[in-house]
Amino acid sequence: MFIEVRNIKKEYKTGNVTTAALDNVSFSLEEGTFNVVLGPSGSGKTTLLNMLGGMDWLTEGEIKVGSAIISKMKERELTNYRRKTIGFVFQFYNIIPSLNVFENVQLVENLGEESFDAKEILSSVGLKNRMQNFPQDLSGGELQRVSIARAICKNPQLLLCDEPTGALDSKTGQNILQLLKDMAIKYKKTVIVVTHNATIAEVADNVIHIKDGILENFEVNSSPKQID
Ligand code: ADP
Ligand code: ADP
Repeated sequence: MFIEVRNIKKEYKTGNVTTAALDNVSFSLEEGTFNVVLGPSGSGKTTLLNMLGGMDWLTEGEIKVGSAIISKMKERELTNYRRKTIGFVFQFYNIIPSLNVFENVQLVENLGEESFDAKEILSSVGLKNRMQNFPQDLSGGELQRVSIARAICKNPQLLLCDEPTGALDSKTGQNILQLLKDMAIKYKKTVIVVTHNATIAEVADNVIHIKDGILENFEVNSSPKQID
């Protein structure tokens, strides 16, 4: 299995209060799959994504991505892992306003070992004619296309997306979801999308249902729905 999550626990301590954001969560995912983590607000989805992305340390358990045991990594290795192995897509895009579209994507070209060409990727996401534009001139859907291009450009093994359609109207959201799936197939990426939106889960190969930090169900979708 490409990703193996074993009995992970993540606690946050605030003063004297300890919150278990994740407790005894285990699952595995095959390479090249499109996966959704589904659960209500506060259920631990972002925490799970952060753990997979090497943004913070686990309290207990183990996470393996490819041959790397990320739960054992120290800060420097983890930084390297985040830069090389992971592409991130956020709800609010995280695009740099002072750089144009091309520069925003080109920025990551030298992070990966076998990065893709920024121009080629921008063409693939339909922004061939927007490369010289600045973020302020772009719509939300276009900004999310830039961020998907940026995430894929460095040729990461894993794409982690936190509510990627959460700030978009439903039609634009559908288009972005379709783009994510198309790009994942074209560039052979494993994708994990975190959402509270059950419609998005319908198109996934696997759905990880979490509630109150606990894995309620691991659903395997043998015939994922096509995006309309
Ligand atoms: P979701 O993404 O499903 O909304 P989160 O992973 O953000 O859920 O949060 C899960 C739980 O962990 C919530 O109770 C939240 O308040 C708590 N939590 C998340 N991040 C922190 C943090 N940095 N410090 C303390 N508590 C946190
Ligand atoms: P911050 O961003 O708040 O400075 P850190 O990234 O330094 O936080 O640490 C995040 C969490 O990981 C903290 O709970 C910290 O105790 C823990 N931590 C920091 N360094 C290490 C390490 N080398 N090995 C394991 N856990 C660590």
